[in-house]
Amino acid sequence: MTKPIYKRVLLKISGEALAGKQGFGLDTDTINNIAKEIKDVRAMGVEVAVVVGGGNFWRGRSGEGMDRTTADYMGMLATVINGLALQDALENLDVMTRVQTAIEMRQIAEPYIRRRAIRHLEKGRVIIFAAGTGNPYFSTDTTAALRAAEIEAEVILLAKKVDGVYDSDPNTNPEAKKFNQLTYLDVLKLGLKVMDSTATSLCMDNRIPIKVFGIDEPQNITRVVLGDSIGTYINS
Ligand code: UDP
Repeated sequence: MTKPIYKRVLLKISGEALAGKQGFGLDTDTINNIAKEIKDVRAMGVEVAVVVGGGNFWRGRSGEGMDRTTADYMGMLATVINGLALQDALENLDVMTRVQTAIEMRQIAEPYIRRRAIRHLEKGRVIIFAAGTGNPYFSTDTTAALRAAEIEAEVILLAKKVDGVYDSDPNTNPEAKKFNQLTYLDVLKLGLKVMDSTATSLCMDNRIPIKVFGIDEPQNITRVVLGDSIGTYINS
């Protein structure tokens, strides 16, 4: 068997990716497929931490006319729903999993404690980080960058509906061109819609490479971990 090129990865799954074709809420088949892929990657000996988004239920910016902080807390709660759903799917496949939340809700999950998270990874458990950073005005992409730095993940695997980074929206522009490789500065300068600028800057400052790829294609997480050059690679 080919060997994985990473030992510890941070997988970011957007809420949209969990919604499957329906575009809202949770799609059971999609979650089960993602869980199967995470299991495969674990079986190769790779330590896996996951950050889940919440956009399939709620984003802070959906709350037009609402207090922004309240709307953002609602978004963070949405990520907890996704985190629990993914934990359930993983446990159905006998993958040991822990959810840690950045906002304490001890009846539901462990609070985020960095050293404990690392211990779980070392013991082979998949760790799911939910409730974002715990702070309004941030995104789960920024959470991914922050947690990746904290747990010293070698790469952020950014699983998206789209299969990489394009110069314009491939859903509306059939001429859109896909990039194979980019620098963080390209992303910032060209205003590419891959991550928000806070998340991109955090990755740039801490030299965390990002692999952007499509989640709908089966086996893509495994392929990326084995070093296949699919999607878009972002580094310095
Ligand atoms: N959010 C937040 N702070 C964080 C992470 C998330 O306030 O540290 C809120 C924010 O409102 C965001 C929502 O949670 O819109 C859902 O996260 P995100 O939009 O990043 O999810 P995704 O687009 O990945 O599904």
